[in-house]
Amino acid sequence: MKTKIGVLLLCTVSMLTAIYFVRWQIERASAEGSEPVILLHRPIDTLTTINYDTLRARISREYPVAHPGKWGEFVKGVDEDIDTTSPIMALTFDACGTKYGDGYNAALIHYLRAERLPATMFFTGLWIDANRDTFAALARDTLFEIENHGLLHRPCAVCGETEYGIRGTLNVGEAIDEIELNNRKIARITGRRPVFFRSSTAFCDEECVKVAGQLGNTIISYDILSGDAVPGTSTAEISTNILKNARDGAIIIMHMNHPNSNILPALRIAIPELRRRGFQFVHLEHHRLKGR
Ligand SMILES: [Zn+2]
Repeated sequence: MKTKIGVLLLCTVSMLTAIYFVRWQIERASAEGSEPVILLHRPIDTLTTINYDTLRARISREYPVAHPGKWGEFVKGVDEDIDTTSPIMALTFDACGTKYGDGYNAALIHYLRAERLPATMFFTGLWIDANRDTFAALARDTLFEIENHGLLHRPCAVCGETEYGIRGTLNVGEAIDEIELNNRKIARITGRRPVFFRSSTAFCDEECVKVAGQLGNTIISYDILSGDAVPGTSTAEISTNILKNARDGAIIIMHMNHPNSNILPALRIAIPELRRRGFQFVHLEHHRLKGR
């Protein structure tokens, strides 16, 4: 009898401890942001629940002196292709934010849904703030994989490199802010922590690749530059860029934040032709990726 009571007591204590621990984790995570944690898909992971300042200081200490290495879109450690010999490709769309880039191409999203085209989307914190309801709706749609395009759309640098007139992060701490604060922002809203990061402009340095890795993110570049980000690029130019470079495993970079760009008419030309060639479209998270 005594043993039974003992076992019962032990079970009750273990259960209460487990409940308390989970609640404590949720409260800790909530305290770091302005919104409650909504867990939809996965349990809270350690990287998201660890105190942000502690994590930032711990990683920063590992880089007492900056060694940026090479700067570019395809530096060591960045992935740009799916590692495959099958006819699959990834449609990726950036949502950049800022006053020039917080629009929403609703017709494009409607087309992707109508054609059942899976896509991987990279969001900045700026775009999310300007489009809260739209972002939440996109995140609920399993057709779309939600990934990280940085908190403030700053190229990822440890020494403040500039690209296309956009100043990169100035040091390791700022690079962590750009990546991790948006990881947490997205995780708070969606319940899923991003696994991929695409730097603003797709440029980054080699040390940023390492920092991103410590935060659990692989940096993604692209294989096919659609050209849709340049204002005035024609439908024919964009569709040609996609069709002439199409090959197994290619990652295509496009944007979903410019409703007036020609990306939608270009896809209306390119997608049927790619399907005719036997290509299927996939999310990045389900495949092994590779760099140059
Ligand atoms: Zn961007």
